[in-house]
Amino acid sequence: MVGEPGRSGCYIRSLPPEVVVVWPWEHLAFGYLVYSVVARRLGGQRPGRADAIALVIGTQVPDLIDKPLGWGTTILPSGYSLGHSLLVAIPLSGLVLALAFLTDNRAVGIAFTIGYLVHLPGDIVYPLLLGGDIRLSFLLWPVVPAADQSTVSVIAHVRHLAGNFLGFLSTPRGQLYLLLEALLVGTAALRWFADGLPGARWPVRRWVRGG
Ligand SMILES: [Zn+2]
Repeated sequence: MVGEPGRSGCYIRSLPPEVVVVWPWEHLAFGYLVYSVVARRLGGQRPGRADAIALVIGTQVPDLIDKPLGWGTTILPSGYSLGHSLLVAIPLSGLVLALAFLTDNRAVGIAFTIGYLVHLPGDIVYPLLLGGDIRLSFLLWPVVPAADQSTVSVIAHVRHLAGNFLGFLSTPRGQLYLLLEALLVGTAALRWFADGLPGARWPVRRWVRGG
């Protein structure tokens, strides 16, 4: 989502694709809003504990696969490859859905699938909103190969991105971003609260409710 300022001072337009990332809480907030609406509209009920946890996992799966293996090793060529490919996401989601329906855990399967599949457009739309380039090729990896990245320390790379992120927030565009970010995360948090804090452990419920 953020990166090194170019010579023009722009933090986004001249960024290499791998430097533009969507943060985990953004994927989670977006995924939760979508799933909460689907659960209420189609299932007629609020998300439950098990499906909320499945949703959290689903929203993070592509990055949990690709970032460690693509950044920190040569097993994958890029942080946007195996887990971000529709050629993997669709069959994997189908398998999870089939298992969930067979074991009568439909909500869990649907939540995981929505979380996973919503992650992918998030990685496309978010950078676009910030003025970055459109990136679609990872959806068809390995048919469309990813550009090989040099191996880096995952922790050091995350720290590098976080540093860029903080720098970006100090710019006028960053402050607009922060406003939109607060709107997204705040809306998702309010929705989660209205849903009864599904997936929250008892102490969290008690703390939030002041009990
Ligand atoms: Zn991703």
